[in-house]
Amino acid sequence: MANEVEEDEYDWIVVGSGFGGSVSALRLAEKGYSVGVVECGRRYEDSDFAESTWQMRRYYWMPRLGMRGIFRVTAFRDILIVSGSGVGGGSLGYANTLYRARPAFFTHPQWDGLAEDWDSELKPHYDTAERMLGVTTYEGRGPADELLHRYAEETGVADTWTNTRVGVFFGPAGEEVPDPYFGGDGPPRTGCVRCGQCMIGCRFGAKNTLRKNYLWFAEKLGVMIHSERQVVDIRPIGAEDGSEGYELVTERAGAIFRKQRRTLRARNVVLAAGALGTNKLLRDAKHRGSLPRVSDRLGHLVRTNSESILAVSAKDTSRDFSNSVAITSSIYPDPDTHVEVVTYGKGGDSVSRLFTLMTGDGTRLTRPILWLGQVIRHPLKFLRILWPVGWSERTVILLVMQSLDNAMRLIPKRRIFGRGVKLQTEQDPAAPNPTFIPEANKVAEWFAEQMDGIPQSGLTESFANTPTTAHILGGAVIGSDPDTGVIDPEHRVFGYRNLYVCDGSAVPANPGVNPSLTITAMAERAMEHIPAREAREGTNKAREGTNNDSLKGSGSAGAGAQDPIVT
Ligand SMILES: Cc1cc2nc3c(=O)[nH]c(=O)nc-3n(C[C@H](O)[C@H](O)[C@H](O)COP(=O)(O)OP(=O)(O)OC[C@H]3O[C@@H](n4cnc5c(N)ncnc54)[C@H](O)[C@@H]3O)c2cc1C
Ligand code: SF4
Repeated sequence: MANEVEEDEYDWIVVGSGFGGSVSALRLAEKGYSVGVVECGRRYEDSDFAESTWQMRRYYWMPRLGMRGIFRVTAFRDILIVSGSGVGGGSLGYANTLYRARPAFFTHPQWDGLAEDWDSELKPHYDTAERMLGVTTYEGRGPADELLHRYAEETGVADTWTNTRVGVFFGPAGEEVPDPYFGGDGPPRTGCVRCGQCMIGCRFGAKNTLRKNYLWFAEKLGVMIHSERQVVDIRPIGAEDGSEGYELVTERAGAIFRKQRRTLRARNVVLAAGALGTNKLLRDAKHRGSLPRVSDRLGHLVRTNSESILAVSAKDTSRDFSNSVAITSSIYPDPDTHVEVVTYGKGGDSVSRLFTLMTGDGTRLTRPILWLGQVIRHPLKFLRILWPVGWSERTVILLVMQSLDNAMRLIPKRRIFGRGVKLQTEQDPAAPNPTFIPEANKVAEWFAEQMDGIPQSGLTESFANTPTTAHILGGAVIGSDPDTGVIDPEHRVFGYRNLYVCDGSAVPANPGVNPSLTITAMAERAMEHIPAREAREGTNKAREGTNNDSLKGSGSAGAGAQDPIVT
């Protein structure tokens, strides 16, 4: 029925079920609150994941075209963003890699001084996050790792080579065992079979997605997940500062007709829709007048992790670099630059469409010319990479990220048709995001030589000088006041009460490594500051479940915390 209105009321609503959202949901439920999670993606069981990325409806997220998968591609003028979608957010299709941020992250001027020492402040929360996500060091050295190690030796940084820290269960391969992580209270798990398909979705139950830890326990505690529902507006009920609660308008995700609009009410809200989702929601709400007090710094300091993603495909179609987990080792060519070798595993061939012949440095005008030059000089190589069959097995993807201080902005562009605002990017005038990383091309050229392979850049990087990132961050970052940030150090949105941001958009600087562990640790810290709900017999679904002490972080509610309102 069109525009059906249904009202549900919670103490807390969490928007998005990725790393920040899942931590928030579990910790709030443990504190005795009733919690609803709204997630626009669909719920996937292990066996539902695509076997190959050609199964487009199960892999790509383009709901208007009937594709409700886990991989979202969003193109802007200055950056191509790949991100996750589904119950479990980015964890469903991420590459399992979980590192603590580089030292420069903790002392970045954006938040330096807002805690005594961010490194020590976050340390206990990193510990909790690592325990919850089951982080361990990958063991093994496949052909891509050997190459990376040799490159490190030749360039004098062999001491930086290391196997990757990953959230994967390495029990007996292919064998199901009772929960090995949470004293038997978690779901049964199956040992990793090293198929490399982690980014397509682990069909074996070996990958420690959020469904296997945070969300598993959150649902056990009664957290209600509303999947395939997209939040499109948030507005205070009564008092303008949100102190009497919020109303969230949701629609069937991706619907053009029969949107089945519904309203949910909550006394407190956590925005955890990922950097893209949270920036969009806050921008729409500010523009529409629903949340006019949100800081004008919204959309500033959007970070890409200073990233570049390249690929090298062996010409020999029998080569196979895919018998491992997705990311297995890394090096630091210099202290600010991190290079990881990545595989998509068998069945990732459609992703080859995001790559083309590698080009060198240039501008938006000269790079397409450089690309054309490459095609004319190397027509056979060009034709070879157009042939996708077996691409993902014979290809080593090189993920290059930096802890340097650069950024862009997500600013509003008025829509001619439709509701709300459209976001567009703009480079930060003081420290623009790089469109070319010389070290990245250098590594790719070296790999190509050794593999008798073809080096490739991201399609948009070659054509439009627009790099690709899988690690979009920032835009609603921590600051000392609304003139410098969108949220305070306890993740509360300036200008409002009981409205929080706990996801990648809160991250104030480039971590220089894969960011999910940092997002998780920051969310753990934010939730620690929320006091527990007063005991109220019989009114809270969340208290019906059991409370598992082994899941708790250390410490207690911080001084100065706002008292969240309860229904
Ligand atoms: C292919 C790939 C591989 C990656 N590999 C790694 C890796 O190995 N290690 C690592 O650290 N990081 C990796 N990342 C990045 C990682 O996935 C993200 O950094 C992380 O998921 C961000 O967490 P988050 O809490 O900010 O939000 P997300 O995990 O992105 O979750 C946000 C959720 O909110 C939902 N949502 C958005 N808007 C709305 C709305 N309006 N209403 C309702 N729901 C909404 C989305 O569908 C999504 O499920 C990878 C990303 C990709 C795409
Ligand atoms: S390598 Fe295969 S089995 Fe192991 S975590 Fe990745 S997808 Fe799962």
